[in-house]
Amino acid sequence: AITMRAVNKYYGAYHALVDIDLTVDRGERIVICGPSGSGKSTLIRTINQLETIQSGQIVVDGITLSGAENVAKVRRDVGMVFQSFNLFPHMTVLENCMLAPMKTRKVPRAEAEATARQYLERVRIPEQADKYPAQLSGGQQQRVAIARALCMKPRIMLFDEPTSALDPEMVKEVLDTMIDLARDGMTMLCVTHEMDFARAVADRVIFMDRGAIVEENAPEPFFTNPRNERLQAFLGQIA
Ligand code: ATP
Ligand code: MG
Repeated sequence: AITMRAVNKYYGAYHALVDIDLTVDRGERIVICGPSGSGKSTLIRTINQLETIQSGQIVVDGITLSGAENVAKVRRDVGMVFQSFNLFPHMTVLENCMLAPMKTRKVPRAEAEATARQYLERVRIPEQADKYPAQLSGGQQQRVAIARALCMKPRIMLFDEPTSALDPEMVKEVLDTMIDLARDGMTMLCVTHEMDFARAVADRVIFMDRGAIVEENAPEPFFTNPRNERLQAFLGQIA
């Protein structure tokens, strides 16, 4: 589980996260949406301390995010997938998936390879294992990025607009992979504007505006009966 209590984040004088309170239970799937600049990326990046906070507390599976040792522990359990795939261009798909487990978890090569192949199967591109990232489509690259994160056996997966850099015809294959993961009980926080995805798998949808969580609800009431005015406007724009 993830607990954020009264979290505040500043970039210099700019107040990027304003009194964030959020609890995510194990196995819960959360979708975060909101206008550009509202703090969505900042929020999920604080969960593995890619961004530090100035006040408040974040606890992940019982470990408080403070001190290098705790941060390292939490990072081991948290996988992240970004808008840009961030694969290593000079390594094959298989090598991309094997690197972190071998380096940071000291997993033996044979085991790392078996795990990598298992997750490439899972994201439905086992036949791409020996290719280089540049030889793959955007959708395939993003699925490699997901497989690579899963190879670390995370308990929580964070997604930051994983489909927004993709051509429309590739969005579905990546969303299908995420839907699979969600149905398997992975704890997920996804920043996305794919509202069909939110309807299909989210337990809760969160709307952020100007650094704050201004509405959160189950998908059905969130979409059919938004209370916040800015959420109403936002949904009107993206519909
Ligand atoms: P988008 O939908 O465009 O990705 P977002 O909701 O993810 O937006 P953030 O990236 O979290 O928004 O940014 C929130 C605010 O913090 C923005 O106003 C942004 O300009 C500012 N910000 C983000 N990163 C930094 C940084 N490294 N230094 C200074 N300001 C930053
Ligand atoms: Mg963002």
